[in-house]
Amino acid sequence: MLTIKNLYATIDGNEILRGINLAVQRGEVHALMGPNGSGKSTLAKVIAGHPDYQVTSGDIRYSANFRDISLLELAPYERAQKGIFLAFQYPVALPGVTNRTFLRSSFNAICQAQGVEALDEEAFDVFLQQKLDQVGMSATFMDRAVNDGFSGGEKKRNEALQMALLNPHLSILDETDSGLDIDSLRSIAKSINKMRSKSNAFIVITHYQRLLDYIKPDFVHVIWNGRIVKSGGPELALKLEEKGYDWIKKEAQI
Ligand code: ADP
Ligand code: MG
Repeated sequence: MLTIKNLYATIDGNEILRGINLAVQRGEVHALMGPNGSGKSTLAKVIAGHPDYQVTSGDIRYSANFRDISLLELAPYERAQKGIFLAFQYPVALPGVTNRTFLRSSFNAICQAQGVEALDEEAFDVFLQQKLDQVGMSATFMDRAVNDGFSGGEKKRNEALQMALLNPHLSILDETDSGLDIDSLRSIAKSINKMRSKSNAFIVITHYQRLLDYIKPDFVHVIWNGRIVKSGGPELALKLEEKGYDWIKKEAQI
């Protein structure tokens, strides 16, 4: 589904990604771990098409509906239309835009792009309520401006709601678990597990094994200084929790 080939990216002329290689197939969950500042969010934002980053070499190939394309040629909204979703580490507030309007516009725009009939207001509200229940969020948040005045945990839950509603092919969760209390973590993990299928994939960026206890990854990767320096199965995350990152540094000779 997603093939990242020797990807280099800069921001303001500073090289952050230095040769990322990663292949994600349908049905898989990949956990991306690594110390602060190693380039995890940068990778997430480059996949989504954040305009502040320049890809200086390499490619990101993506296949949706059996057509293989380079994501680099697409604007962020076109990537979203093709089923790519990023739950931000630091979600932004949109004062003046209510959550309901935002979600309905996003949902309908993606339906339209994918040739699926959009929902009228009434049908959308029913659908929205199902998704609110799925992530354990109160409907009162729908009449508030997107993330405006939301607590840290409420913002993360709102990202999870967007994801549940838009049902992406490829979901990237950037520390969605950070700042969540245990009950919220559990309900969001449950919601993600409910979404998991043979046809979609997830890249889960996290520092914590506690999320991976709920969402069992197929692969775990460690990113360091803009490169993936170690990959393994779920046992790698357990080892990191126990031993930290120092041993990887020695092993990878960095
Ligand atoms: P992570 O998500 O792994 O903690 P990030 O991808 O957010 O790390 O950041 C990677 C590195 O890029 C960090 O060292 C950060 O300081 C650096 N960085 C981010 N923006 C800029 C910028 N505008 N100029 C220079 N360095 C930047
Ligand atoms: Mg980050």
